[in-house]
Order: sequence, then structure tokens, then C-alpha cells
Amino acid sequence: MRIGIPKEMKDSESRVGMTPAGVAELTKRGHEVYVQHTAGENSGFADGEYEAAGALILPSIQQVYETADMVVKVKEPVEPEYSLVRQGQVVFTYFHFACDRPLTDAMMNSGAVCIAYETVQKDDRSLPLLIPMSEVAGRMAALNGAYYLQKTKGGSGKLIGGVPGVLPAKVLVLGGGTVGEAAARMAAGMGAEVTITDISLPRLRQLGMELPVNVHTLYSSEYTIRKLLPETDVVIGSVLVPGDKAPHLINREMLKLLQRGSVLVDVAIDQGGCFETSHPTTHSHPIYEVDGIVHYCVANIPGAVPNTSTMALTNATLRYVVALADKGWRQACKDAAALHRGLNIVDGKVTFKAVADVFGLPY
Ligand code: NAD
Repeated sequence: MRIGIPKEMKDSESRVGMTPAGVAELTKRGHEVYVQHTAGENSGFADGEYEAAGALILPSIQQVYETADMVVKVKEPVEPEYSLVRQGQVVFTYFHFACDRPLTDAMMNSGAVCIAYETVQKDDRSLPLLIPMSEVAGRMAALNGAYYLQKTKGGSGKLIGGVPGVLPAKVLVLGGGTVGEAAARMAAGMGAEVTITDISLPRLRQLGMELPVNVHTLYSSEYTIRKLLPETDVVIGSVLVPGDKAPHLINREMLKLLQRGSVLVDVAIDQGGCFETSHPTTHSHPIYEVDGIVHYCVANIPGAVPNTSTMALTNATLRYVVALADKGWRQACKDAAALHRGLNIVDGKVTFKAVADVFGLPY
């Protein structure tokens, strides 16, 4: 199969759909891989590395889309790419159709086969192509919490891990899923005193067994959050209610329970945020202040570390890319229910119920 790796066109997106290691695996199996000139540059992968792995470099994005039977990307195609997507072409990427009607219409009109990373789902309901980005975002949340505690960054001036004779900072992680666990582990590794909450007791039991001793588990309720806020320095919001907006676990009135210069990191901002005072921010303007509390609400945290994020993403996507390339999309989706659940648009029709429901389209 001919596989195309275009350079991402979305604003400030530095990741790329495949690493040279992924390309090597595909070319070894007899597939042809076409990479757009400088596609991997911002992730730390030069054209020469792709060529050494057997790829051919094409000068323009038009040529990549023209040549490829399957396009492997990171983010959804943006408007200038809509007309490049061809009838019958497989596009494998994050789409998030439900919040983008123009994209949905464009992909229906293209006649392409759109397989969305975010809905590839295993039988145990886990989402294998979302997990790696949550693992990155959780670790980054802890790092950013520590960073913005600095006085020069608007914070209270506390060093996250303390020093001998001075207590460490306290970190509260709301939601103990993939993001929360990664955040707690990173914060604990920096020496903070960490509390992680969830509403699932089995999950809290598991976290209690696996996380280091400076992480304490707590059943989540407004009462317990109110009790903890006065002595908390960093709050990391990482709850997820699948298919719904994030609940507001800290409202504006509760901000006054925190000390000035405390930091809120709202990782759940892509689901509306779990603090009432959150609104999405960008890597160029990541923070703002409300009532003396620093808010960090970047909606694409993994974009700050594209080298690691690209490798983590390819690690997770490659087995599906290989199956699609070896067998063709019909057989690959027949053989793997997880991949079949990723099908969102085929031949001009929406094939994913939640997307059809949002737009009142036939399913
Ligand atoms: P997850 O499903 O693994 O974990 C969510 C956890 O929240 C679950 O354990 C659940 O029991 C818990 N929860 C639900 N309601 C709760 C409540 N009221 N109180 C306490 N806990 C509650 O999800 P995840 O992969 O960890 O993702 C968390 C959020 O982070 C999602 O919204 C995801 O989209 C987002 N995310 C954002 C970025 C970013 O760049 N901003 C990157 C990756 C993920």
C-alpha cells in the first residue's frame, strides 16, 4: 500500500503522524511510504532519517495526498486540506467530528474512509489511541503546576519538592484516570505531598497500591475538596465523564479557599474544564489569573513536547496502521473490533452513531 505522511497544517501543531521507526516497519513489510518535506522537523525527525528508513520525500502536501492510498496524520484535516482528500482514500487521524460540522460535511463529500483515533476502542472499553496523549498531558500538568508556582511566574513562590528543613508543596489531583495517575506520579517524583481523588473505589484501591507513599488517595466530594483547598498549592483537574461535559468541581466562590498564588491546571479543558473559572488557553498564552489564582488551561498540552508525543503516538497507532496497510481497511476492520469502532465516515455516510446523532444525520 502507498502510505502518505503530510506535514500538519493546524496552527501550532508540531507533531507528525509517524516516526522514522514506524516508517521502517512499513517499508520492511513491502509498503511504500511518502513523507512530505520537513513533515517531521518540528518533532525532531529530519527528512534524511525518513529516507534512511525507506521513505520517499515529496515536496508538497498536494503530492502526498495525490499519491497515498492511506494518509496517516495527527490532527483532523484543516480547511485547505479538505479538497485534497480523495474518494476511497483512507484517512487515519484524530478527527473529533462531533464538534466540527464543516469537517464532517467535507469528509462526507470527499468519499474518503475516515477512521478516527479517538473512537478506536478495545472490548474492555479502553481507548488505546487516546491513552498515550493522556500519559503525556498528566506528566506535563505536574511540571507546569510546579513551574507556575514560581513567584516570577505569578505563583506563591513555593518550590514543589521543598528542601531539607522546609516542607514540600501540596498537590491535589482531581480524577484518578490516566491523566491523574501520570500527574500524581510526576508530582510525587518531584517530592510534592500529593492527594489524588476519584469517585471509583476500585480505582482508588488500585492507585493506592501502585503509587508512591507520598501519594494519598481520597474519595471525591465537594466536602473533601473544600477541606483540602486551604492547604493546597497546585490543583490538577483530570476528571472525565465519557460523552459529557466535565463537572465543575471548583466554582468561583471556592477560589477564596485557596492561598493567593496557588495554581490550577485544568487538563479537562477539552471537555469544558472542571473549574468554573477555566477557559481554554494556548501555548503562546498559557495562563491567566482569577482572584489571585493562576489558571493554566492549555487545550493541547502534548503539543509542547512533540518529540515525545510523536513517538508515544506512533507506538500506539503503528499496529493499526500495519493492519490497515497489510489487509486493506475492510478486512482489517472485520478482523479487529477495536479498529471497526474507529470507522466514522465511509463512502459519504456517517457510520459512528454519536456523530450522526449530534448532527441529526442518518446512521
Ligand atoms: P480517564 O477516563 O482515564 O479518567 C477520568 C477519571 O475521572 C476516571 O477515573 C473517573 O472515575 C474520574 N471521575 C469522573 N468524575 C469524577 C468526579 N466527579 N470526581 C473525581 N473523579 C471523577 O480520562 P483521562 O484519559 O485521564 O482524561 C482526563 C481528561 O483529560 C479528559 O477530559 C481528556 O480529554 C483530557 N485530556 C486533555 C489533554 C489536554 O491537552 N488538555 C490531553 C489529554 C487528555
